[in-house]
Amino acid sequence: MTTVHEPTATTPTATAPGGTTALSVWPASTTESARGDVAVGGVPLAEVADRFGTPVYVLDEAEVRDRCRTYRDAFPDAGILYAAKAFLCRAMARWVDEEGLGLDVCSAGELELAVTTGFPPERIVLHGNAKSPRDLDTALRLGVGRVVIDSPAEIARLAAAVGPDGHQKVMVRVVPGIAAGGHDKIRTGTDDQKFGLSIADGYAQHAITRILDQPQLDLTGLHCHLGSQITSVKPYLVAVRRLVGLMARLHEQHGLVLPELDLGGGHGIAYRPGEPALDLTALARKVRAELADACATAGLPVPRLLIEPGRAVVGPAGIALYRVLAVKHTGEHVFVAVDGGMSDNPRPALYGVRYAPRLIGRPGTAAPARVTVVGRHCEAGDVLAADVELPADVRPGDLLAVPVAGAYHLSMASAYNLVGRPPLVAVRDGLARLLVRRESLADLRSRDVGL
Ligand SMILES: *Cc1c(COP(=O)(O)O)cnc(C)c1O
Repeated sequence: MTTVHEPTATTPTATAPGGTTALSVWPASTTESARGDVAVGGVPLAEVADRFGTPVYVLDEAEVRDRCRTYRDAFPDAGILYAAKAFLCRAMARWVDEEGLGLDVCSAGELELAVTTGFPPERIVLHGNAKSPRDLDTALRLGVGRVVIDSPAEIARLAAAVGPDGHQKVMVRVVPGIAAGGHDKIRTGTDDQKFGLSIADGYAQHAITRILDQPQLDLTGLHCHLGSQITSVKPYLVAVRRLVGLMARLHEQHGLVLPELDLGGGHGIAYRPGEPALDLTALARKVRAELADACATAGLPVPRLLIEPGRAVVGPAGIALYRVLAVKHTGEHVFVAVDGGMSDNPRPALYGVRYAPRLIGRPGTAAPARVTVVGRHCEAGDVLAADVELPADVRPGDLLAVPVAGAYHLSMASAYNLVGRPPLVAVRDGLARLLVRRESLADLRSRDVGL
């Protein structure tokens, strides 16, 4: 296995414009008023909090669309598939479609929501290390573009479901043996985790031979996904080499020429001012060069590149708004407790992610104090932001905004403590509109059908 060390430099890159200023990780549309109000998409956040209540997620539509366009500009010849698990609702599916991206889904639910919203199924790729019969049936019924095979058992199951006269394009998820990514729990390129088929131990080649034996499965290419929150280009270049190496062996053994190569997602973003982000321009340039070079060496035509960004498309476009309910001084610590927490953002508890919340809605003129922002849930680990600076006079009733809350927030939210998941409001051109409403007790009670 190859461990590719992430650079420790804090130099922000092209995807983190503005660098270290307080608003550098906020959407480009963000403005500040002297009264301490912050507006996104032309809508003051305090107004959103008043109108829709808190906690609430705010999503800047123009920022999402701009990020889709940035990808298309950086990778004009590649297929760009937005990874729906980062965040999906019907409007998001529509924006992504209108911006010309494809979609990467990993369940019948994500797939069906997108297709019933009008997303073209041929531009959708289905993933999953353990696809259920319903996942596969839905994929075939709706005519999904590609199914990414992730285990040997899936091959015969899929071939049987397709039937002798059917046809389904498939890819194979291989494990290139590369350790990259922001945290152990989001590293998926190594041989000791559950995803994909290893190149090193021959599983990938074996599975591919079996796919080639199934005439109704049409293998279009190899896929890999190294992990998430990767901030350097290097691991992707190593992956290109390994995958083209496998393609060369497949060409020798089977005369196979695969037209596609999917490098997955995982493009890292800055959550706090000064943190590094993956430089998309450099990624595009270097991956293209590496792919051309590796294919020339192997005597293979250059396959079409596919990439699957999730976080980097939607993460920086979202803000989470909370109201402060209590401020507690305990020994050395100041705990600022808000009306949300691990039910709407489990990421700090899951993988120790750090955020930079800020006070909004009034001038924060008091000297900064070190505080820990905690949630309202019944666990000591329910921390949203440990050891951050907020004005020392922060008090109940204040509003806190947490930037970079667009990815893996609502999509990972739970009904813990029956608080109900927050609503999601889109802002654009000075207008706010509700896309996903707040989960009510009635919603939760409607599932509770026994007594
Ligand atoms: C999660 C995932 C992605 C997207 O990852 P990000 O870190 O959000 O870019 C892409 N492809 C696959 C297969 C994934 O599982």
